[in-house]
Amino acid sequence: MNRIALDVSDLLKGISAETEFREKREFSPLGERGEKLEFKGPVEFNLVIRRVNSELMAEGTIVGKVMIECSRCLSKLILLLKAGVREVFRKPVGPGESPEEAFEIIGGEIDLGPLAEQAFLLALPLKPLCREDCKGLCPRCGKNLNEGDCGCREERIDPRLAILKKLKKK
Ligand SMILES: [Zn+2]
Ligand SMILES: [Zn+2]
Repeated sequence: MNRIALDVSDLLKGISAETEFREKREFSPLGERGEKLEFKGPVEFNLVIRRVNSELMAEGTIVGKVMIECSRCLSKLILLLKAGVREVFRKPVGPGESPEEAFEIIGGEIDLGPLAEQAFLLALPLKPLCREDCKGLCPRCGKNLNEGDCGCREERIDPRLAILKKLKKK
């Protein structure tokens, strides 16, 4: 879990109407071992936090580079994720109760870590590709077809075409 604490006590007291958070922070990988989402370089926060009644609204973008696998050929690729953010922070409703659909304000602080984690997970493409025309892996031998032909192609010719070829030879 990433923890990026921001003091919002001045906002809550009404001393200031909004505060900006424009910083780069190191970010630890998301998820479990095996299916980890790793970050390349720091994550860039560009957020404005405003007070709306008793709540705080965080708006802006969070940008980071992640290492993921191409969904076709499984090679590693680095993807720039730019996540748009518009989330509410709220004080806990009661003891042990967490506010619904919102992040918590705890002791005059908010934690931007979970906010960024959620934003990145939502911004991830379902089927990332190393390139638009990735040829993927050969279903027969498993070779990465971007690196060259594997020789299985002959066997994949449409049987009808094979018969036509024979007919033409006669
Ligand atoms: Zn690929
Ligand atoms: Zn093959």
